[in-house]
Amino acid sequence: MEKNGVRKQFGCLPPKYNFCLNPYSELRFSRCPDCQNKTGQRKLPLLIHVEPMNLIALNYTKRYCRRCDLLIGHKHEIEQHLTKCSSRSMILKAIKISA
Ligand SMILES: [Zn+2]
Repeated sequence: MEKNGVRKQFGCLPPKYNFCLNPYSELRFSRCPDCQNKTGQRKLPLLIHVEPMNLIALNYTKRYCRRCDLLIGHKHEIEQHLTKCSSRSMILKAIKISA
C-alpha cells in the first residue's frame, strides 16, 4: 500500500481474488478469518515479483474461502518454494511480496 492509500497493482486488470499472506507457520486457516466458514483448497498460479526485475510464477495450493472469495497463502511455504527456485537458477537479492 502506498502512502496516499492507493494499492500498488501489477498490470491493468483488476484483481480476480482477495488475497492475504499468512505470516504464522503454525496457523493453517482451516476456517476463514472473516466469516468462520470452512475453507477449501485452490491451486492457482501465484505471480511473485522478485527485486529488481524478476517474476516467478508458482503453481501453488492455497486455502480458499468461497464465500469471501479469499485466497490465503502461507508465507513460509512460499519462501521455501522461492528458495528452491533460487538455488536452481537465480540469485535473489530481495523478495518483495505485496499482499
Ligand atoms: Zn470467508
